[in-house]
Amino acid sequence: MPPFICVTCGTQYPEAPLPPEQCLICTEERQYVGWAGQRWTTLDELRLDHHNRQAPEGPGLLGIGTEPKFGIGQRALYVRTSVGGFLWDCISLVDEATVSALQALGGVTGIAISHPHFYSSMVEWSRALGGVPVYLHADDSQWVVRHDRAILFWDGDTREVAPGLTLIRCGGHFAGSAVLHWADGADGGGALLTGDTMMVGEDRRSVGFMYSYPNCIPLNARAVERIGASVEPFEFDHIYGAWFGRNILSAGNQAVRYSVRRYLHAISDRGQS
Ligand SMILES: [Zn+2]
Ligand SMILES: [Zn+2]
Repeated sequence: MPPFICVTCGTQYPEAPLPPEQCLICTEERQYVGWAGQRWTTLDELRLDHHNRQAPEGPGLLGIGTEPKFGIGQRALYVRTSVGGFLWDCISLVDEATVSALQALGGVTGIAISHPHFYSSMVEWSRALGGVPVYLHADDSQWVVRHDRAILFWDGDTREVAPGLTLIRCGGHFAGSAVLHWADGADGGGALLTGDTMMVGEDRRSVGFMYSYPNCIPLNARAVERIGASVEPFEFDHIYGAWFGRNILSAGNQAVRYSVRRYLHAISDRGQS
């Protein structure tokens, strides 16, 4: 009885003789069912023709993503701190090569995930890494399809998960959408790891905010103002998005302020005409 994985979004479901009829994540308005219909795979199948690429994304930060692209195509980030490693966001393919590489770098003390689109194979990762806790915001608990005692729901607006590593709930894309602030990141300038809560643009100088990225459903002004206000008390020079290379490598705080102003202008009646 393998745990089935949705091919379109990469979410892993609990062990079952047959896959579910539909995927909870993909049938929701923020995602979509693959154009060839609902398809499923398993970890064993995935390991046959996919592997994980590891690449440095910044000081003390290792990106881990699956090749060829699988599901949404995001990469996770391994944060190296003086008190051990921490995994931000998650991917579907768990393999021995990646697990041993992370253990060799100092292991993983916990996993935190920005929002349900990246829950992927989180339970499998936790188990492979020794049963480490998986921090998810309680406001998104309805989107967890594979429950496990390693899942630790946090609530409120901030939560320190390790010294100098603070989860910040911004909301917007999902009610519990979060980012991770790393005080010692960017060689001491501070780093913000954003997942889809803020999407680093192709210009790598600004971020975007959406309720649904693939279906182009915008957020209202209040939600975007709130995202900006949530991170305002934190200092960060670098912003790391959810894909390889989608990073802003200077003046992160200013980039968020500028992006919030730009968004509010764009949706106002004074925006593009
Ligand atoms: Zn799905
Ligand atoms: Zn998303």
